Amino acid sequence: MNVVEIDDRKAILRNCPQCNATAAHTLSNEAAKPWLLKKCQQCDFVYVHAAPVYEELLATHSWDKTAVQRQKDRKHRYPILHRISKSTRWRLHIFKRHTPVNFITQHITAGNVLDVGCGKGAQLNALPSQYTANGVEISQVEASFAMEVTKKRGGGSIIVAPAVDGLKQFPDNSMAAVIMRSYLEHEAQPKEVLIETARVLQPDGIVVIKVPNYGCFNRTVFGERWCGFRFPDHLNYFTPASLESMCTSAGLSIKRFKFLDKFPLSDNMWLIAGKA
Ligand SMILES: [Zn+2]
Repeated sequence: MNVVEIDDRKAILRNCPQCNATAAHTLSNEAAKPWLLKKCQQCDFVYVHAAPVYEELLATHSWDKTAVQRQKDRKHRYPILHRISKSTRWRLHIFKRHTPVNFITQHITAGNVLDVGCGKGAQLNALPSQYTANGVEISQVEASFAMEVTKKRGGGSIIVAPAVDGLKQFPDNSMAAVIMRSYLEHEAQPKEVLIETARVLQPDGIVVIKVPNYGCFNRTVFGERWCGFRFPDHLNYFTPASLESMCTSAGLSIKRFKFLDKFPLSDNMWLIAGKA
């Protein structure tokens, strides 16, 4: 493993997370420095070259905290952009009905649900009682809250581990649904996680994925000021095409990815996958 030090933090230099190629163009995104943003020369996937090692993520970072701090920074640095962004909040209503729970209740009647990167277990807590809540979470502190949720619900397990290791602890075909909400963009090994997800999924199961859309209109307009850029917590920058191809190459099939699920005026997109 190629470990380097950036900003006093240990990081691993990654190949393209989609096709494993090493040749990549460096995109001139000033906001990314020193965490270089790259575009794979072979498959066009956009990713941050160096990923902080998991231990670093735990020690120095809480995703929630950086999000709040970043919001404050943006307001201060770009007051006009911030106001435009605030005044076009109607964009968010396009996804109003999109929640993991809504998708799961539409597709699956009962069974095991696994939330990857479950945090304190808020998504799991929102599940109706016919579902058994399970989670993988890297932070012991966050996971302890999620364990309270499963205890209260009377079943399911929370594994404290990086996602790939955590997923390996669940048997083949054991999950009716897997949730990845605002998680996959943070993951240093997104394809490996999707491969493990395809393995644990039941033949009729679903995966609910929500990630920022790098191909969206706002990113083109705001450039490096786009709210989806967060360095180095967001490591993978999916377009609708690259999200779809990573899922299918990992052994998943696309069940739902409609125009409104990847609406270009929204910063995020939702994809429902199944077992191929
Ligand atoms: Zn590639």
